[in-house]
Amino acid sequence: MKILIMSRNAKLYSTRRLLEAARARGHDARVVDPLKCYMNITSSHPTVSYKQELLTGFDAVIPRIGASVTFYGTAVLRQFEMMGLFPLNESVAIGRSRDKLRSMQLLARAGLGLPVTGFAHSIDNTNDLIDMVGGAPCVIKLLEGTQGVGVVLAETQKAAESVIDAFRGLDANFLVQEFIKEAGGADIRCFVVGERVVAAMMRQAKEGEFRSNLHRGGTASLVKLTPEERSTAVRAARTMGLNVAGVDILRSRHGPLVLEVNSSPGLEGIETATGKDVAGMIIGFIEKNAKPNRTRTRGKG
Ligand code: ADP
Repeated sequence: MKILIMSRNAKLYSTRRLLEAARARGHDARVVDPLKCYMNITSSHPTVSYKQELLTGFDAVIPRIGASVTFYGTAVLRQFEMMGLFPLNESVAIGRSRDKLRSMQLLARAGLGLPVTGFAHSIDNTNDLIDMVGGAPCVIKLLEGTQGVGVVLAETQKAAESVIDAFRGLDANFLVQEFIKEAGGADIRCFVVGERVVAAMMRQAKEGEFRSNLHRGGTASLVKLTPEERSTAVRAARTMGLNVAGVDILRSRHGPLVLEVNSSPGLEGIETATGKDVAGMIIGFIEKNAKPNRTRTRGKG
């Protein structure tokens, strides 16, 4: 098969591993930087050009689109979908997953457990919003944040009010969320491929920190998932329309709660923690499922 990997940097661990795994399994694979792709979007025969070369003859595309290039990256992916390539994750699903509120609304509608979350634009009574999520302590998150940046634990009602006032003063979008204390500074990353969780790890925050992000000094270890956690992760990915997803779960008193569904989950942490060939499993999924024009939406969404 001819497989295209969309990635800004061929040296990144995840990109390298996917390329290696595809070649090891006998495929013709290459990396293209989505920002260097250009296209005539009005042609009835959609094409994509890359450094003066027309990209043709590919069967499947693996999008590794960073949050900062979502807009252009999904446009290029949509063009590939219109050309009939099989996308590992489709553009519409990636777009959905990049909007935290939209994602949570979709997951809630599907009946998945989520931490109680409030969102507001401009309200007169901040206390009412805080009460809506059960009062302090609560977590306040910037919508644009990644890797734990802009995620604040407010221990008291007063602290929560101050943070909300500060974020509002900056004209930033944020949400207020119930603090799941019993998670003990740990969350679980479930790596979903197709209808299965193929690997999972627990991330534990360092002493004195509630955010378990590995970039913030969290440590990863193996974890045995309950059947409920497995089915929650698979349902979350399916609800978002993602074939491959990193579903982050908190263990709460009321069972697993979905924190986030990531459409370009990194491979380094999960392969290192579990010793599994996740990249190989992703290529295996493409081998089984890639057929021309197999996109659910073909970019119409
Ligand atoms: P980001 O997407 O920036 O990583 P998250 O929403 O995943 O932000 O939050 C970062 C970390 O903070 C999570 O991995 C989790 O460990 C912790 N955390 C986030 N929200 C809550 C919450 N409501 N209750 C308890 N811990 C939380």
